Amino acid sequence: MEQCLKKSYQPGSMLSLALTKGLINEPGQNSCFLNSAVQVLWQLDIFRRSLRQLSGHFCLGDACIFCALKSIFSQFQQSRERVLPSDSLRNALAETFKDEQRFQLGLMDDAAECFENILEKIHLHIESDSATDSCTSKSCITHQKFAMMLYEQFVCRCCGASSDPHPFTEFVHYVSTTALCQQVDRLLGKTERLRSDMFGELLQAANNTGDLRSCPSDCGQSIKIRRVLMNCPEIVTIGFVWDAEQSDLTDDVIRAIGPRLNLTGLFNRVTDENAKRSELHLVGMICFSSKHYSAFAYHTKSSKWMFFDDATVKEVRIPLSLFTLTMCWAVMTSTYRLIHVR
Ligand SMILES: [Zn+2]
Ligand SMILES: [Zn+2]
Ligand SMILES: [Zn+2]
Repeated sequence: MEQCLKKSYQPGSMLSLALTKGLINEPGQNSCFLNSAVQVLWQLDIFRRSLRQLSGHFCLGDACIFCALKSIFSQFQQSRERVLPSDSLRNALAETFKDEQRFQLGLMDDAAECFENILEKIHLHIESDSATDSCTSKSCITHQKFAMMLYEQFVCRCCGASSDPHPFTEFVHYVSTTALCQQVDRLLGKTERLRSDMFGELLQAANNTGDLRSCPSDCGQSIKIRRVLMNCPEIVTIGFVWDAEQSDLTDDVIRAIGPRLNLTGLFNRVTDENAKRSELHLVGMICFSSKHYSAFAYHTKSSKWMFFDDATVKEVRIPLSLFTLTMCWAVMTSTYRLIHVR
């Protein structure tokens, strides 16, 4: 076991990659969904540093996701082991979601929802009394760094009538892969090839597909939904919803994924000035294949992409080309980090 783990760990540069470690997933544990989410969170510098600076929180003891995550992170930093257990967080998650029968021990679960729920619980551990849509706490990493504050509205282009704006907050922006691929086909009918800067527009078009309503003033027009972003999130996560168990769209989705994302492309309108000029870069992906999750994450210090498959940690060249080599991969989430504001 030890030998095998050592072999599968291929360090690029010992110094810079010393902080990348694998996570144990014993047979029957089915913890790959959690391990993948934790690896992406750990590699997000903004998240890692912010969590380190926080200490005060509403503690739930054995069921405390905040403490469990902090303990894994401090082990990532201090332990000499190359592979660590994630049991404390697995147990806390199972205890927290006992009543809902989700994330229970030994059972496989959804990595994107796990990622999203960890963020939501961190908010509750910091700001227990504020509703998740109205949190303004400066120390809440979840809302300060990850939240997309949006409102939806139907506006008629013909008569100008509009529905009441519906404000909401999301940490993961979900997009149907079927709708995404339809938009790719539509675009390829018009242009020769996909440009990598079109990804945001493709996602927006996919998200708006089918969201038609009749005009609120009954002018007879069918009108589309508009989604408006009101803040400038530092981290944006896209969740891909696979509408069918067996999808032949994997290649198309992978080809559509862009390394950069503009918020003005992703939403119908962006009101925040920084968000208008921002460019986000792909820094993490959680993938699902053969009933198993693994993750890719960008290691900033060494400028390298790392592949995390439970105990196995490898440096990979370019993740997107690796995807085309292993066709069976399905991307579940892709996480983007704000790099600069033009
Ligand atoms: Zn705690
Ligand atoms: Zn919050
Ligand atoms: Zn109208």
